[in-house]
Amino acid sequence: MLEIEYWWLAVLPVFFALGWAAARIDIRQVIREARDLPRAYFRALNLLVSEDTERATDVLVELARAERGNTELQLALAGLFRRKGETDRAIRTHQNVLAEGALESEAKQKVTLELALDFLAAGLLDRAEFELRRLLGTPLEARALPPLLSLYAAEREWHKAIETARRLEEVTGHPRPHEIAQYWCEVAQHAFNHSDDVTATAAVEAALAANYKCTRANLIGGQLALRQGDPAQALACWQRIEAQNAEDLPLVAGLIGDTALARGDGAAAVNLLRGYLQQAPTVDVLDATLRVVLAVEGEAAARSLLAEAVQQRPSILAVSRQLEHGGPPDTATLRQLLGQHTRRLAQYRCQACGFRARAHYWQCPACAAWESYPARRVEELNIYD
Ligand SMILES: [Zn+2]
Repeated sequence: MLEIEYWWLAVLPVFFALGWAAARIDIRQVIREARDLPRAYFRALNLLVSEDTERATDVLVELARAERGNTELQLALAGLFRRKGETDRAIRTHQNVLAEGALESEAKQKVTLELALDFLAAGLLDRAEFELRRLLGTPLEARALPPLLSLYAAEREWHKAIETARRLEEVTGHPRPHEIAQYWCEVAQHAFNHSDDVTATAAVEAALAANYKCTRANLIGGQLALRQGDPAQALACWQRIEAQNAEDLPLVAGLIGDTALARGDGAAAVNLLRGYLQQAPTVDVLDATLRVVLAVEGEAAARSLLAEAVQQRPSILAVSRQLEHGGPPDTATLRQLLGQHTRRLAQYRCQACGFRARAHYWQCPACAAWESYPARRVEELNIYD
């Protein structure tokens, strides 16, 4: 027992000595490498850490001049230029790195992507597109596609955007049905505006194939059918929106009501729109319903529709419709509505920052400006100034 303990005591210092030696070797290595670095690197690093990019750039520019072959340094510098908004310098630096030609193909692709992002930041879209397209089919494709897609969307090049979004779906595995359907709708709307019904019809179908819940496609599809003299088909298109997304019914309620009235089918539209009003009780659906009810059933029916609507969902807009049609507004509802709205209108508003407050302040609690509150309530400011 005793013997074993002594034996351990003898061995322990050896382990300590070995650990100490190993640590010394590592530290010596690090110190040797650090000594090889010019002190200017540390100055630049220090300035970057303290977010003085201006002076950090100056130091790095000096360094880069001294060490022309240092690619990493050139890239760091180009990145700094772009962050500071000096895109022309970023472009020149990236182009120089590429021109030196000593890069492996993967490193070259990375620099090409950076150069494309410089061009994008500089608004040179054609050149950005050229560089990004060079990365298609390379390992960097997944990173090149998103900027390429936003570039095409910004330039309203919808066919190219669709092609790029499809490729992005393939590369990333994430479906993008909403975007692609909207791009097709843009194609359809543009063709519709230029009386190219064949292209518009095909684009509407493509939008629905991309996203069968795309309400905008049916909205445009109905407008196309109406122009081609087929109101029944137009109504069928618009009515599909109820199953797609009832929230969007306010966008077609007026079209449905007016088209049905024009072809003498008002009675059916009354029932349809009353049903929509239950699902989407908005002022636009109410207005559409009101027009068909007035035309088909007359003033008395319109007044009771409005009374019902105001009771179900009181709003100033609904009450104002009620007043227009000679309906007596319910005083209790009116008082409640006015109370809700006047609370907002009775506030004071800072002229410097727009902050609203219930009390009057000599110094704004939001922006600290002095004497920035006129001694008038918001409603008086809106109406009389
Ligand atoms: Zn203020």
